[in-house]
Amino acid sequence: MSKSVMDQAVMKTYGRFPVTLEKGSGSYVWDTDGKTYLDFTSGIAVCNLGHVPQGVKKEVEQQLEELWHCSNLYHIPVQEQAASLLAEASGLDQVFFCNSGAEANEAAWKLARKYRHDRSQSEKHTIVTFSQSFHGRTGGAMALTGQPKIQDGFAPLMPGVVHAPFNDRSALEELDADTVNAVFVEPVQGEGGVHPADQEWMTWLAAYCRENDILLIVDEIQTGAGRTGTFFASEAYGIKPDMITCAKGIGSGFPAGALIADKTCAESFSPGTHGSTFGGNPLASAAVKATVEIIQETAFLQEVKAKGAVFKKSLEKLVPESADVRGMGLLLGIDFHKPAAPYIQALRENGVLVLPAGPEVMRILPPLTVTEMEWSTFIQTLAHVLEEDQ
Ligand SMILES: *Cc1c(COP(=O)(O)O)cnc(C)c1O
Repeated sequence: MSKSVMDQAVMKTYGRFPVTLEKGSGSYVWDTDGKTYLDFTSGIAVCNLGHVPQGVKKEVEQQLEELWHCSNLYHIPVQEQAASLLAEASGLDQVFFCNSGAEANEAAWKLARKYRHDRSQSEKHTIVTFSQSFHGRTGGAMALTGQPKIQDGFAPLMPGVVHAPFNDRSALEELDADTVNAVFVEPVQGEGGVHPADQEWMTWLAAYCRENDILLIVDEIQTGAGRTGTFFASEAYGIKPDMITCAKGIGSGFPAGALIADKTCAESFSPGTHGSTFGGNPLASAAVKATVEIIQETAFLQEVKAKGAVFKKSLEKLVPESADVRGMGLLLGIDFHKPAAPYIQALRENGVLVLPAGPEVMRILPPLTVTEMEWSTFIQTLAHVLEEDQ
């Protein structure tokens, strides 16, 4: 079968870049023509340890020899180990494993509902999320997402969700807090344009939730797994969520998602209330365990934080005055205030992969293992691209 005929067999849910990648190692990927790219997308914040990280590969290979899958009807020791590591990294108590970010948010939403049901608090039914947020593409997660472009064409959506402006108190203060069940918030809106939450607002939001008996659910699907310089960004903000959702980076590319919850919430998931055939299966759990073990090391995270600060400064020095640099740790963005696509394309032609985050923002997500040499290659290439643009 010809290549173009096979192409036709895949649904066109993605506008794909004209590149076919076939190999990766560390911060680099290679296409089918043998061209090398510096990959500053990390497969959208997934390959946080770089491509084919050896420590994770070893543990997954060992698991491949032993048991691939057995279902959650049996005890899975490696799942328990992965859960303990995530609980410890988050300061929360219990973990539900699933296979993606959207599923982790669906699980959080279900747990919030069940938590109120168990307390006969049927009046607390509203879920608050924020404008420009992104929580995933499934029915519930899409309804949580505060972006019309994600929801267009899929009405009627799951009801009960209110979108409030991000980094803004007023809409929340006007809501009747007695009707609010939970708030979903991203510490840094990644898909929505690399917008970090203001520290002051986040502190206020956490206090507002606590004072009004509202569950604080932090979507760390993009910010987690060390991306922002602490294992979870909530830690840097000094807030204590009731639940954290994560996915993307926790399996180094092996599909895995997780909902981590405080004990009092987690208790509402009794046997039979939620489940996933694949969630936390031995292979995924081996990948998560190995990944979290590496990332949660203090020295590793300190280096991410240090690199993030230095790299952000070098971007600020380089970009034109009309552009803004935003971000936290190694989740960085340049808002050009004009279409970013030409810059992203020019970088790709010059052997560097980066992502958009909305029409005017370039999102830069190097592996957390990126070296200063690789970063300076990126800066030189970006400088060249910006010069050509003059
Ligand atoms: C990517 C992402 C999701 C969705 O994750 P999937 O694995 O694609 O379902 C949800 N929330 C945030 C913040 C994300 O970045």
